[in-house]
Amino acid sequence: MNYLVDYHMHSTYSTDGNDSIHEMCKMAIKNGLKEIAITDHFEPTTEDKLYLPYDQKGYWADITKAKQQFKGKLKIKLGVEMGQPHLFQQGSETVLKDFPYDYVLASAHKISDGRDMSEIDYRSISIEDVCSFYLKQLEMLLEWEDFDCIAHLDLIKRYSASIYGRNLSLNCQHELLSEVLKKTIAKGKGIEINTSGLRQSPKETMPGLDVISLYHKLGGEILTIGSDAHRAEDVGKGIKEAINLARNAGFRYITAFSERKPEQIRISDERAFSAGQRY
Ligand SMILES: [Zn+2]
Ligand SMILES: [Zn+2]
Repeated sequence: MNYLVDYHMHSTYSTDGNDSIHEMCKMAIKNGLKEIAITDHFEPTTEDKLYLPYDQKGYWADITKAKQQFKGKLKIKLGVEMGQPHLFQQGSETVLKDFPYDYVLASAHKISDGRDMSEIDYRSISIEDVCSFYLKQLEMLLEWEDFDCIAHLDLIKRYSASIYGRNLSLNCQHELLSEVLKKTIAKGKGIEINTSGLRQSPKETMPGLDVISLYHKLGGEILTIGSDAHRAEDVGKGIKEAINLARNAGFRYITAFSERKPEQIRISDERAFSAGQRY
């Protein structure tokens, strides 16, 4: 039996989250997970550079309560998803300072003019150009070093799939993608397999197998898996498919974190995860 973990999810401490930390934990246990990281958004914008809605104290209090309540049944890690920290360094550094996070995800949701990746006019830009544009955002993100993994490496796939009529792959800018992945590895950072794409229009994980395989080929070892659930019913969804993908890409381990340090979990050789076994 694989030790199942879900390292990306949002509770009501995210403005777009729907269920409490308690509900997320209960569902994690129900779905057979052994460990989760709750990664609520710290999402600064040009209008709110310090992101005032982020209730770090409330989050901590509820996680502490949940750890007590679910002791022996579920390991719960303190996480955060930092939106565009390279653009809002001051607020981002403040939120991380003196707080005992186990795991920090970094995301390029927005660009410097304030637009979200969902607001880009994909009709007016080619797949090659949008991939190169997004990879350059990731290069900037990598210059801000205080994170553990890059979230949903090809996020633009989520928003462009219905417009292009197919899924883009960052691999269409192979050299630039390789540079980004090499830099990620050299800096001791990792990437995640985000399974929310399976539930949304791309119908595949972010990133997909070709990018995960390239990351492995280049020497990448730090690989987490997360559902990016924004409601309890999605906790743990797609995790088994993601483990299969990781294995098919050549990985023998997936990664968990404690106090910002990676811990490798061996993928069992059990071949039980057939496509029909979705949660
Ligand atoms: Zn995100
Ligand atoms: Zn997220």
